[in-house]
Amino acid sequence: MTKTFNINNIVRKSVVALKPYSSARDEYVSDGSTMIFLDANENPFENGVNRYPDPYQRSLKAVLAEQKGVSEGNMLLGNGSDEVLDLIYRAFCEPNQDNVITLPPTYGMYKVLAGINAVENREVLLTADFEPDVPAILEAVDENTKLIFICSPNNPTGNSFTKESIEKLLETFSGLVVIDEAYIDFSNQESWLNNLKQYPNLIVTQTLSKAYGLAGIRLGICYASEAIISILNKIKPPYNVNQLTQQKALQRVLNEDAVQQEVVQILEERSNLEQALQNLEFVEKLYPSDANFVLAKVDNADKRYQQLLDQHVVVRNRSTQPLCENTLRFTVGTPTENKVLIAILKQL
Ligand code: PMP
Repeated sequence: MTKTFNINNIVRKSVVALKPYSSARDEYVSDGSTMIFLDANENPFENGVNRYPDPYQRSLKAVLAEQKGVSEGNMLLGNGSDEVLDLIYRAFCEPNQDNVITLPPTYGMYKVLAGINAVENREVLLTADFEPDVPAILEAVDENTKLIFICSPNNPTGNSFTKESIEKLLETFSGLVVIDEAYIDFSNQESWLNNLKQYPNLIVTQTLSKAYGLAGIRLGICYASEAIISILNKIKPPYNVNQLTQQKALQRVLNEDAVQQEVVQILEERSNLEQALQNLEFVEKLYPSDANFVLAKVDNADKRYQQLLDQHVVVRNRSTQPLCENTLRFTVGTPTENKVLIAILKQL
């Protein structure tokens, strides 16, 4: 396959034709003066959230852009990265015609979103050492393949994929390669963000739900070329990131040091947890992790899951995923939580 990437060949026809909704706050340009806003049918009495939020989240994007070394035109923010992933399907995949490629065992929402959007999901299993099977992926591609989803570091296996595999896909595939970096802040690997200019078919997604500790406010980030971002902006709900989320996210990203300190602690705790798990008789294999969780193969996952639940500890049983028979995924908790977990595990 020779690659001829052209964004116009990828976008869904109805999206090309679409005239986007124009919100009240899109239609005037501020010159910094104090304005009287009688344009959006809001309640005028001030309570902190009586006004619609900035539809383009400019203050938050300005800080993120500087920290990540990309420009604001290369970013779209969403109600969690799950919304961002859904927007990508809806912008680029023709229902009942197009297909995407996912690489199980991986994050379950790619498949669910394919189902919701009536898009065929072509699953190409990772290899036994949890790497993308590049020849098999390229074999599965046809003229209706729009997206390849790559989760690196991967959930639930925890590993990052080799640069070479991802590069090969970016260079060969004529659709979009979506790299989900939800766990990148726990990894030593370089983010693919730094390659946006080089690859016009690259989309990188990140989230404030993991290392940034803001799962409750729902803030996901999509980084891509300006051409891709402007298509996604066309179809996003006008005020998809609420005011409270924008405020809270801004505070947190401005406090990079606090985030970094927590990441360091989580990585220390991951290492303690790995050591403890390794010494347990019923743990048969521990997979190296580049994320804030550890996947372990055990003697009997259903039994161990239930035993932990009986002791009020909830982990994730990943045994139904291919290549993950009898595996449990342990999220790294606080030092206290991990001590309790380890003490319970030792007594099973
Ligand atoms: N991608 C991966 C790989 C995830 O594991 C998750 C959440 N478990 C998400 C995306 C979704 O993140 P968000 O909270 O930003 O919707």
